[in-house]
Amino acid sequence: MNGATTSLEVHECTQCGTTLFPARYFCPACGGKNWLARTTQTGVVMEATVVRHRAGEGEGGASPLHLASVRTQAGPVVIARMEMPLADETLVSLAVDALHRIVAHPIDTTGLAGDHHVDQ
Ligand SMILES: [Zn+2]
Repeated sequence: MNGATTSLEVHECTQCGTTLFPARYFCPACGGKNWLARTTQTGVVMEATVVRHRAGEGEGGASPLHLASVRTQAGPVVIARMEMPLADETLVSLAVDALHRIVAHPIDTTGLAGDHHVDQ
């Protein structure tokens, strides 16, 4: 899927600097409604979860879906998809794929789940 991704953009309030994702109409901190788009390319995994598809669901077949809440470098926490389970506090790069989903890839591979096998 490489090559089909774009940068993740978060939204910074021009009045007070509060940074949000996803965007809201009014800034919750100051009520402003002018936003500056800022790209954010890295983040840190806060909590990873695995979603296992139930039988009969189409997308992705039987492979589990790895999701994590990731604190972006810019501040807001986003939910990202991962190709593999990652430990908390793993440093990841963030991008948005062709289906507008946030995807995370580990930068420091010492955080990988190594030889731990996931039962199918
Ligand atoms: Zn504001």
